[in-house]
Amino acid sequence: MPIPILQTWFAKKHSAAPPIKDRSQLRVGIPKVLNIWSTHQFWVGFLKALGISPENIIFSSDTSEEQGREFGKGRGTVDCCYPVKCMSGHYGELIFGQKKKINILLSPMIHSLPSILHGHVVDTVTCTRVMAGPENIKAGFMKENDVFVENGIVYASPFVSLGDRQLVSGQLYTSLKDILNLDPDETERAVQAGYQALENFTTRARQRSREILAWCAQNQKPCILVLARPYHMDTGIGHEIEAELQAHGYPILWLQYLPGDADLMNWLFAEDMRKGRIKTPFDISDVWTSSYSSNTNEIMWGAKVAARCPWITCVIRLSSYECGMDQPTYTPTQKIVEATGTLFFKFGDLDSTKPAGSIKIRVETIVHYLAKYSGSIIGRKLSWLSADCPLPRTSRERTPTRAMADEARAAEPKQLVVLH
Ligand code: SF4
Repeated sequence: MPIPILQTWFAKKHSAAPPIKDRSQLRVGIPKVLNIWSTHQFWVGFLKALGISPENIIFSSDTSEEQGREFGKGRGTVDCCYPVKCMSGHYGELIFGQKKKINILLSPMIHSLPSILHGHVVDTVTCTRVMAGPENIKAGFMKENDVFVENGIVYASPFVSLGDRQLVSGQLYTSLKDILNLDPDETERAVQAGYQALENFTTRARQRSREILAWCAQNQKPCILVLARPYHMDTGIGHEIEAELQAHGYPILWLQYLPGDADLMNWLFAEDMRKGRIKTPFDISDVWTSSYSSNTNEIMWGAKVAARCPWITCVIRLSSYECGMDQPTYTPTQKIVEATGTLFFKFGDLDSTKPAGSIKIRVETIVHYLAKYSGSIIGRKLSWLSADCPLPRTSRERTPTRAMADEARAAEPKQLVVLH
């Protein structure tokens, strides 16, 4: 529903040329939730291209118990997984917690996602709870009275298929044209800028991950892969478990930013392709045939990469309280990772409370296993791959031989500890 204040700002004067669309004073709040964690750069690029000043694009803080208590209390509408439930606090913080009020609360209903697996899987749609989350949470702010109107805020929740580039301009134009006084051409240009910003960011992050792997290869050091959904990067959702491990000197890679370079992927998956198990390194049909869900697909692919990449000697699996999408993936991911002796540890049912004590004990266990077995895991996985590794390696390093593989196998953990 158009809000009068914005219509006034952009209203056409009959006798004059079309007004310059000065949007620099508009303040747009975006709840930093769910798949905003993997698409934020799209929204920043899109809004900046429309003339919104960067300082007027406001993301809510990371999730916290205080945020939920102060801004989301009494606004709950659904009994749901924790990442959706905590959205009320983010909405409330943007509505009530800003010194300078926002004009628009932008909470997109993201239907599909850009993905490194695009074209190799059936589809890249989001979880239905991600899609419907904004509508659910909005209801909590309208059940007695319309909190958005009371606070002079326009609520904008475009349905957007970010995984289908050709649909996006039309979808955003249709849902935002009255709110932002858009025309189709500038919407298309802004969408283009959004995708470019997202690609630039993702490319840099993947390059950084490659540098970490290259450092591990050069120094024969292990690293850890986090298998989780993008919003587990939120310190209130993932509880910074990976940071505790990094503090022990183990570099961390996130699944979402694994390097997908052809040289590296072809090296890791050469044998699978030669045997005809998969068509490309991004093909997951050998382990996951119903490959519709973008984040789930990527979790399965990440497990396959971890199982093959020598320097990823440990996988940390994070999952949130009441996540229905993760349930069927627990066993497959664990089996894929452990098939090559790679360590696998799961932290499940994460919710608002950070179980600091139990995390500390588990981290100590993981660090113990990493120190004890990483060398043999690296050696064993190297022995299965061809010698032409695309990552720089030290001259000190021995070429994997049958003897080395036997030595690595002898040092194999007899039983791996899995934490639930
Ligand atoms: S994938 Fe799981 S945690 Fe994420 S929104 Fe869906 S049910 Fe919730």
